[in-house]
Amino acid sequence: MPTPTPHPEILTIKPYIGGEAAVPGVARVIKLSSNEGAFGPPPGARAAYAATVATLHRYPDGGARKLREAIGARFGLDPARIVCGAGSDDLIYALCLAYGGQGSELIMSRHGFSIYAIAGAYAGCTVIKTPERDLTADVDAILGAVTPATRLVFLANPNNPTGSLLPAPEIHRLRANLPETVLLVLDAAYAEYVDRPDYEAGATLVDAGDNTVMTRTFSKIFGLGGLRVGWAYAPPAIIDVLNRVRLPFNVNAAAQAAAIAALAEPGWVETSAAHNRTERARLTATLSAAGLKLWPSEGNFVLADFTTPEAATAADQFLRARGLIVRPMGAYHLPHCLRLTIGTTEECDLLAVALTDFQTQAARKLA
Ligand SMILES: *Cc1c(COP(=O)(O)O)cnc(C)c1O
Repeated sequence: MPTPTPHPEILTIKPYIGGEAAVPGVARVIKLSSNEGAFGPPPGARAAYAATVATLHRYPDGGARKLREAIGARFGLDPARIVCGAGSDDLIYALCLAYGGQGSELIMSRHGFSIYAIAGAYAGCTVIKTPERDLTADVDAILGAVTPATRLVFLANPNNPTGSLLPAPEIHRLRANLPETVLLVLDAAYAEYVDRPDYEAGATLVDAGDNTVMTRTFSKIFGLGGLRVGWAYAPPAIIDVLNRVRLPFNVNAAAQAAAIAALAEPGWVETSAAHNRTERARLTATLSAAGLKLWPSEGNFVLADFTTPEAATAADQFLRARGLIVRPMGAYHLPHCLRLTIGTTEECDLLAVALTDFQTQAARKLA
């Protein structure tokens, strides 16, 4: 019997696998698998979320006006050039569907964020993955992959899962050499964690033309991954397109209220970023001393390289037995690596001790 069939690219999609949250038989689990902020939701956001209970029968503000104004005030951006989404993933999907389509090509780097490939295939695009240098996106490789069919280039900066960053001059060089008809999406999900002086999240390039978008999220440093809030900063014509295609009430009322409160939380971003800097350096130093290779990271995570897939799998099992859940990287063509999210100081200590024990044990087996 003939059956309905999706368009051919759909069945090339491998479903996204999120970070795991439980280990059977282990009571206390420490989840370091999804790059969630180390400190839970900001206190003000918890209160704002709770306060929405009495009005949950009301539809949310479909245009998220107050949230856009709060984002605009915080980041010095025009609220009219902001669109909010149910996570930035929502906006990544919308951009692919609106600007991609069958016969078009989407370029991302080989170890770029996996949602781009899923959203691109959903939109019918052919997804082109370009080679990297030292797990860092290579502007020349991206430019070399451009064809007349190219519609979209996605770049996470810093990139998840590698942690690598392209400095502002490289991003500008990329934009300057892409055709003007190609939409460049700069995904700055980890912007608040970066302290390199040569970093730009993307607003400058958005303002400089009509073909660059910056996406941001409340899921990482703002600690609201469970509520699904993200936003895009884009030129007016792209804002217009996003407002035509997004679901009318894509960001729910509790999420809008909590996100506004998270922006207002005194010192939240500064404290979280400082903690991350300290703990990321400490974890990197300890694990390096234990003989592991850690890739330099500008995010709230580090990629640990165990050399072989077998060693990475063994380390993952070893950690899980102690209730520590990190992220295996097979889906990212990095089966010899594990991605470790920076948690609280105690969580980082437990992870450092466990991986040091694993390394000691592995060395003993070899001896
Ligand atoms: C976590 C992450 C996002 C955020 O996704 P949300 O849908 O906003 O939760 C986007 N891009 C990258 C690179 C990420 O790591």
